[in-house]
Amino acid sequence: MSEKKILLTEKEIPQNWYNIMADMPNKPLPPLNPATREPIGPEALAPIFPMGLIQQEVSAEKWIEIPEEVRELYKIWRPTPLFRAYGLEKALDTPAKIYYKYEGVSPAGSHKPNTAIPQAYYNKQEGIKKITTETGAGQWGSALAMACNMFDMECEVFMVKLSFNHKPYRKIMMNTWGGTVHASPSELTQAGRSILKKNPDSPGSLGIAISEAVERAVQEETTKYSLGSVLNHVLMHQTVVGLEALLQMEKAGDLPDVVIAPFGGGSNFAGLSFPFLRLNFEEGKKIRAIASEPASCPKLTRGVFRYDFGDTVGMTPLLPMYTLGHNFVPAPIHAGGLRYHGAGVIVSQLLKDKLIEARSHHQIECFEAGIKFAQTEGIIPAPEANHGIATAIQEAEKCREEGVSKTILFNLCGHGNFDMSAYDAYFSGNLEEHELTSSEIESSLAELDTPTI
Ligand SMILES: *Cc1c(COP(=O)(O)O)cnc(C)c1O
Repeated sequence: MSEKKILLTEKEIPQNWYNIMADMPNKPLPPLNPATREPIGPEALAPIFPMGLIQQEVSAEKWIEIPEEVRELYKIWRPTPLFRAYGLEKALDTPAKIYYKYEGVSPAGSHKPNTAIPQAYYNKQEGIKKITTETGAGQWGSALAMACNMFDMECEVFMVKLSFNHKPYRKIMMNTWGGTVHASPSELTQAGRSILKKNPDSPGSLGIAISEAVERAVQEETTKYSLGSVLNHVLMHQTVVGLEALLQMEKAGDLPDVVIAPFGGGSNFAGLSFPFLRLNFEEGKKIRAIASEPASCPKLTRGVFRYDFGDTVGMTPLLPMYTLGHNFVPAPIHAGGLRYHGAGVIVSQLLKDKLIEARSHHQIECFEAGIKFAQTEGIIPAPEANHGIATAIQEAEKCREEGVSKTILFNLCGHGNFDMSAYDAYFSGNLEEHELTSSEIESSLAELDTPTI
């Protein structure tokens, strides 16, 4: 079989999302009310999310039907292609077979529209007029702006200031789809003002931007908030990626030994890996899943498993997760989408139960991996995606050293066409390495007074 590109037809777009909750041996612990610290039920989320999504958030159903209207819009870019990385394999001189699923073909250039479309759909169903959100690198904000536009709703985006300044074109994309964008921390919210008071030069973080977007959403009845990662329903929407990839791997006559994806809050990792983990649960397969995170924001490899807030100010429910502490402000690396202090609760529980693995990479190693990829496969990856490529290269090199052939599949979750300033920094030798010391992590964790597990 020497196919380069394995394609599916529109009919093969999945009919259902896969909900891994149904198969997990240990279900995640419940979220806690931030004030009383008692477990909260789904109704507590009603001020910020529509019921359609809350039901998915707590569902134990294994398969959840994708609404027809959502499948229709998915057709704009789905099914996405799966490629065999012959060029990269050759350059690495590895006996490993390397495949990648390419999500950069979406209009927004990443996997994010896979959940933006259904989230906008369920909000629209319930009469919502405006959605607020945060964005790091701008991928999520642009995906949601596009989705809101398709359903004729307003979209207000709080964009981490560092990225707002680094990535002006992402902002213009959001404007083009009718979205309004503010640099975060902003003067528009209590949360933003309190951060700016303490640190007028704050580069912002996803945690801060979430606080701002949530604050805006609770103020108005027809405004809701939307999150681009971390939550169960977001991870579930992304399983269209892995469900398609599984079909494509079958068409290629292969099955991965290891699946790899970069890790910010867990959505593209979950999207690719959960449908393969299902085979472990159901058929006793032993497919490894590796989450690739930045060494400067290493919640999975150096964080702790305990209750923490999803945002910086402490407005969200307390979630049981791997975290570096909600006050942790990661170094200003270019992979803005990975600069988040915590991890989704499902992924956290799976890691705790040793059903998945995690690995961290330094920024320069990631750019080297991404450039090797661009020069052998053509596509210039998003800085976030470079983390998964770095892990895939390590695995392929291990195969060469050990003389074994394995099948590796990774998620190329977005292209880097709007990240030229990051590549420029690399080429001009201005990329910083950011060593994160144990005492920095310890002092962030020491500030936590949230329940331990
Ligand atoms: C948002 C984003 C990420 C990080 O978020 P996850 O939820 O972990 O996927 C990674 N890569 C790209 C391209 C992104 O847009």
